[in-house]
This record gives sequence, structure tokens and C-alpha cells, in this order.
Amino acid sequence: MATLAPKNIRQINETTLGISWNDGHESEFPVKILRENCPCANCIDEWSGKKLIVPGSIPDSIRPRNLKAVGLYAIQFEWSDGHDTGLYTHELLRQLCQCPECLIKK
Ligand SMILES: [Zn+2]
Ligand SMILES: [Zn+2]
Repeated sequence: MATLAPKNIRQINETTLGISWNDGHESEFPVKILRENCPCANCIDEWSGKKLIVPGSIPDSIRPRNLKAVGLYAIQFEWSDGHDTGLYTHELLRQLCQCPECLIKK
């Protein structure tokens, strides 16, 4: 089987991003959750894996301004707060899926 990858990424509405996967799965993400789970070194302590983002510090008005595919494995988000160092691997995005099916597994 091919490695898991997004087939299509689209903005569903102002605050929701949708991803259709190459295995047929459909994900919807509140964009704020994606920003809160930014995996870059400024947002996650590299050694402990601890989140450095203060809970509640991401405003509801946060929006992705730009998305860029990085190689075949990740998506780089540029956020409306100017933050653009997070590389979201396809694996991470799938882990963050908020659909009922995935939430049950957590
Ligand atoms: Zn970050
Ligand atoms: Zn899901």
C-alpha cells in the first residue's frame, strides 16, 4: 500500500480545514487545534516533547494564511500570527484528525 498522504486539502470554512486522504479517510480540523499542536522547536520542547504553547494563548481568530507541501512527507503552515516554522508531517496530521472515528481510538 502507498504511504499515507493527503490527496486534497481545502478550507471548508474560515475555521475548518479539510483533508481527503489517499486511503479514503476524510478529516476535518478546527484550524486552532492545528496551530496548538505545531510541532516546531518553538512550540514543543525537543527533549521532553512538552508543549511550550501556553494553553488558551492561541486566539480564536487564528487562520492558516498559506500551506506549502514540503517534499513528500509534510505540509508547512504559515499562520496569521506570522508563525511559519512548523512542519506538519502527514503522520502528525492524521494523528490530529478530529473525526468521531479517530477520536474513539484515542
Ligand atoms: Zn511552532
Ligand atoms: Zn479521522
